[in-house]
Amino acid sequence: MVLVHIARAGQLIGRYPDADLPVLIGAGTVKRTDHYWKKGMAGWLLVGTSFDPPTPATLPVPLPAPVPSKPDPQTHYRYECLRCSAKFNETVDRKPGSTLLEIIYWCVTPWAGGAYSAGRSLGKTNHCPRCDSEQIHEEVW
Ligand SMILES: [Zn+2]
Repeated sequence: MVLVHIARAGQLIGRYPDADLPVLIGAGTVKRTDHYWKKGMAGWLLVGTSFDPPTPATLPVPLPAPVPSKPDPQTHYRYECLRCSAKFNETVDRKPGSTLLEIIYWCVTPWAGGAYSAGRSLGKTNHCPRCDSEQIHEEVW
């Protein structure tokens, strides 16, 4: 590391490592109209003739902001069972009542069978595929 002496209007204003000078010039701490001298030089020279401030291309580029991504269906599930905390994307639709009763009603009279079938479809609920619980939290996104 070589220390560079910086003078402004005939006054010494500081000594800086030569590697830091481009940054100091870029920050305005050292002006291009200042004079500099370091060991071995015969006399003072204008800073602007020897040191260049960093150009935007040589400055560290800030990292791009992370882009929010859509939930991954492999790791992000739509439903969560509140009883056994299983996570899944498809629930089991289960109708109330009994299929055997439904068949019997249909055999007795189509009107009774139709009413019973309609009631079962309306009362259809989502069930956990693991524990059969109806306590299912649906996540909306
Ligand atoms: Zn469950």
